[in-house]
Parts: sequence; structure tokens; C-alpha cells
Amino acid sequence: GPGFAPEAARQDVPILHRPVNGRPLVWLDNGATTQKPRQVIETLAAFYATANSNIHRGAHTLAREATDMYEAGRAAVAAFLGAESPGTVVFTRGTTEAINLVAQTWGRADLGPGDEILVSTLEHHSNIVPWQMLAKERRARLVPIPLRDDGGIDQRAFADLLSCRTRLVALSHASNVLGTVPPVAEMTALAHRYGAKVLIDGAQAVAHFPVDVQELGCDFYTFSGHKLYGPTGIGALYGTPEALAAMPPWQGGGNMIDSVGFDRVTFAPVPHCFEAGTGDISGVVGLKAAIDWLTSFDRQAVAAHESALLHYAQQQLATVPGLEILGSAPEKIAVLTFTLAGHDPAEVAGWLDRQGIAVRAGHHCAQPSLRHYGLDSAARASLALYNTSEEVDQLVAALRQLTERGD
Ligand code: PMP
Repeated sequence: GPGFAPEAARQDVPILHRPVNGRPLVWLDNGATTQKPRQVIETLAAFYATANSNIHRGAHTLAREATDMYEAGRAAVAAFLGAESPGTVVFTRGTTEAINLVAQTWGRADLGPGDEILVSTLEHHSNIVPWQMLAKERRARLVPIPLRDDGGIDQRAFADLLSCRTRLVALSHASNVLGTVPPVAEMTALAHRYGAKVLIDGAQAVAHFPVDVQELGCDFYTFSGHKLYGPTGIGALYGTPEALAAMPPWQGGGNMIDSVGFDRVTFAPVPHCFEAGTGDISGVVGLKAAIDWLTSFDRQAVAAHESALLHYAQQQLATVPGLEILGSAPEKIAVLTFTLAGHDPAEVAGWLDRQGIAVRAGHHCAQPSLRHYGLDSAARASLALYNTSEEVDQLVAALRQLTERGD
């Protein structure tokens, strides 16, 4: 194919052109959040300047326009995920809220004593803690699936842990620390043989490669707009029509009801019964703009560009004395979590920041992943489509300088 040139995408993203500490910004914290193209920024401003209204209420022109834009956002998310219909998409604040929604509706209604929830050891805390809280409440068990040394999920252990007690398997589509992309379609098919439901956390996946939820066969899929070049505060839960139809509503309030009396309430149909209150209307409109922007590129070419950057970064970082990268699974997104002998991760991040290079240091909200390697903190460079090999060179040069500086 023609390949993907990041320069055109960079032109769309204003913040990439600001200096930080006197140097051009090198944004390598995309795992935390991505930077926004002007198409998203301008869409948000235009919504408030020309179309702002609450939705599903009032019979005036702006309400109709805002409602149409909100529902166009739902249709765009459904198409982006390969979902059956827009009705399978519930808007949430993000991945965390989407997972909590499933835990508190499906989980509370269906889970009982002795039931088991399997989660992989590489999950983000948002795909662990809601299940832990649910398990405690329902007297169910949360069971971790171990990792291999390369950061992949141990498939034999997974097969052994599955049983007729397994009610849910919760898996990341891509790890935010190790970058691992587990074989979630195969794992889903296996889990379904035991009658378990499968939730896939796509927070780190959707920006990097095309996703088709029907091909994956999962019951639930979640993502956050802000990791997809869109606004913060908006994300989505996909559920199969069967799964969503069987779930009780979650929060009560406006927008999610059909009729309310003091002795009786009837709920709006799916997905509206899961969207109580005024949602992030501009966020939905901005999310659609982000999806439109991302899908205007050749996704396979974008994935090839990011994969080439990953391999280049792996090679170059390996030349820095004392540097070790965590996670070398063959299927991996461009996330480089590393330690540097003799330097605390916070010191590494601070040194890089002084040169305008943004990486994250800490536990990355995935403490079990780091503990697997005997660590409680590491530095992480996480790449996106607008990153370049020159930026990788700047990262490597700065790290080399730090090791050569002595103390
Ligand atoms: N899952 C993964 C794999 C993540 O990387 C993140 C964000 N770092 C989340 C879930 C949580 O996403 P949010 O904070 O947007 O809800």
C-alpha cells in the first residue's frame, strides 16, 4: 500500500506545535490520553455556537438538531465497532463507567454465591475493581488469569480456570502497560462454551487497529473517546441486543423512563434506559468528529506505521545501557514500558519532561501487571499515529544522555 505519513495528521493537531520547556513537544503519553485534531476542537465549538440544546425534550428546532447529532454519534460508534445497530451502543463517561454499568446491572442481577469472574493479570484497575466490589457484594469469586513472561495471557491456565462456575471473563483488547494484544476472539469462543459472558476493554485498542465486535463475538465492549483523539468525559458500552435486553436499568432519572407515577415506573427502551440524566451531548458530537477523523485514514496503513515505530523503538531503546522493556508479546501495540538501571522512573520522566518529552511514570493503574515483573513503578512511552521515528530518536538520545550524565 501507499503507507501512512504522520506529517499530514500532525498538521491537524495544534498542541503538537507548542513548545514545552523551550523544546518542541514530543507527546509520548498517548496511553493516558491522545491529543485532539482541530476537526474535533472545531466541532465542539461549532456545536455550542450553533446547535446547543438538550435532547429528546421539547419540540423546537434546536432540540431536534441536537437530538439528530447525538443519535448520529450513536450510529457512528455502532459503525466504528461493527455493531448490529445503533441500539447496541450506550453512551457513558468512558471505559470505567461502562464497566461499572455492566457490573452493577448485569452483575447484581445475575451473579450469586460461588459464581466466578475471570480477569487477566494485565487488566487496568478499572477492569478489576468493579468486579472485586461486585464479587464481595454477591459473594462471588474474582479469579486472576496468569501471564506468561513475555506479557501474554497464559492460554493453558485460562482453559484450566474455565468451568461451569465461570459467569464472566473480562479481558483487555490491549494492555496499557505491556502493550499485549491477547487473542480475545479465541478466548471469547472458549468462554462461551462454558456459558460465560465476555467483556472486552477496548480502551487501548480502538485507536490502534480496526475492531469488529460481531467478529470478536463478545457480549460487551467498552472504550473511551479521549484515547481515540476525541473529548474526555465520553465513551461507550457496546452490548449484544440479547445482553442489553436482559439487563435491568442502572441509574434512575430523566431520559430513561417512559412514564413515572409514585407507585409505578416504566422504563424507556434500550439503550435509553441506561442513559439517565443529561449526557455529554457535545462530547458525543466531538466523539463522532474523532471517529470521522481517524477513519479518514487507511486504518491498515496506520497500524503498519505504528507497528514499524514500535519495532524501531524496541531496537533503539535496546541500545541504551541498563534499559529494559517490559512485555514482548508478538501481538503488541506501540507501548514501551521500561526501567532504566540506577534511575527511578519518576526521575526518568522528569528528565525527559525538561526536554519537552512527555512520558508517564508510575503504576499506570495496572499494579498486577508490574508486580508480575517484581516492580511497582516504571516509565512508559505510548505512541499514536502522529508520532514519528524522529521523536523516537529524541527519546533515545535523551535517555542516553541521562545514563551518560553520571551522578
Ligand atoms: N482500560 C484500559 C486498558 C486503560 O488503559 C484505561 C485508561 N488508562 C482504562 C481502562 C480506563 O479508561 P477511562 O479512565 O477513560 O475510563
